[in-house]
Amino acid sequence: MAYLTLKNLNKIYPNGFHAVHNFNLEIEKGEFIVFVGSSGCGKSTTLRMIAGLEEISSGEFLINGKRANELGPRQREVAMVFQSYALYPQMTVYDNLAFSLTLQGVDEDVIEKKVEKTAKILGLTEYLDRLPRALSGGQRQRVAVGRAIIRKVGIFLMDEPLSNLDAKQRVTMRSEITQIHKEIGATTIYVTHDQTEAMTMADRIVVMKDGYVQQVGTPHDLYFDPANIFVAGFIGEPPMNFVKGTVEKGRVAFGDQSIDVTKKLGDRAGEWEGKKLILGFRPEAIVLGEQENCHHLHCDVELTEMLGDVTNVYILVGNEQAILKVDPHDAATLGSETKFSIPYKSLYLFDGETEMAIK
Ligand code: ADP
Ligand code: MG
Repeated sequence: MAYLTLKNLNKIYPNGFHAVHNFNLEIEKGEFIVFVGSSGCGKSTTLRMIAGLEEISSGEFLINGKRANELGPRQREVAMVFQSYALYPQMTVYDNLAFSLTLQGVDEDVIEKKVEKTAKILGLTEYLDRLPRALSGGQRQRVAVGRAIIRKVGIFLMDEPLSNLDAKQRVTMRSEITQIHKEIGATTIYVTHDQTEAMTMADRIVVMKDGYVQQVGTPHDLYFDPANIFVAGFIGEPPMNFVKGTVEKGRVAFGDQSIDVTKKLGDRAGEWEGKKLILGFRPEAIVLGEQENCHHLHCDVELTEMLGDVTNVYILVGNEQAILKVDPHDAATLGSETKFSIPYKSLYLFDGETEMAIK
């Protein structure tokens, strides 16, 4: 039996807004789950229904197979870290960490041991006497995480905990949170709008859009096997390139270019004649020149962006804009006209009407 079950969860706010639609998910003990999607897609609403901070309009939330809809946050044994990690400004790091245990009436010496252990996990030992204002943003966020993990809870919920940090701190905290999760093993649901955070931290990712779950899967699943255009375009940076066209004689033409889609469609190629398809290929999946087992294309190079490890090449391919990710040494030799190849296995097809992947 799954540890947590979300069965057809819906949230309709009092003003009638339907924020979450039929959310289904089973979470195993110890999993690190990430909800990802653009702002307003219903991530926090779903998290708050799990936390017991927001009423579930319909559907069921189960813990260990038992209905938990009516339980308060404390009875659900959840700890939550928010984006704005409100620490008590007049209390030291030690007291901030100890606070919830003090409230529960835990013995002083037990509290001391727990605070020491938590501070050690989070690298806060030398800051225990400081006030929050004497800490960096990253250190404050670590105290906020520490306050959540110091209590032994079953479910650890985090809502965009890194969004107030600068880019460098975010990368550091990302790996720290993953490390903490490995150490304490608590079932974690982590909300972010950042696909890189989702890809690097999650055991499984839930991609959401407009209150609907688009796909649930491992980072590998979502990257290599996206369910639809939205997921394909959301995961990966720069995003997957898309080209739309109609199937004619087994090929999709765009401008002066065309791609044979019969390899991918096989026996079904006939059914697609005259229908609209969207072709997708990732910037990093291409190879320069004309290679074997590939679709061959040529393009005009419009702009190159040298990032150090890689160069993004902005191209026009048959009047469509696309980006190629190229080794900087190779990019330096590119002319204004260039040939490139898309390996057969790296071409994705989507239904032009429904935008669903064609497997
Ligand atoms: P996310 O966390 O993914 O950015 P939210 O879950 O906060 O999104 O919000 C989802 C949608 O529900 C948004 O369109 C938001 O405006 C709306 N919403 C959030 N809270 C309320 C509320 N209390 N009443 C009405 N609508 C709300
Ligand atoms: Mg939110």
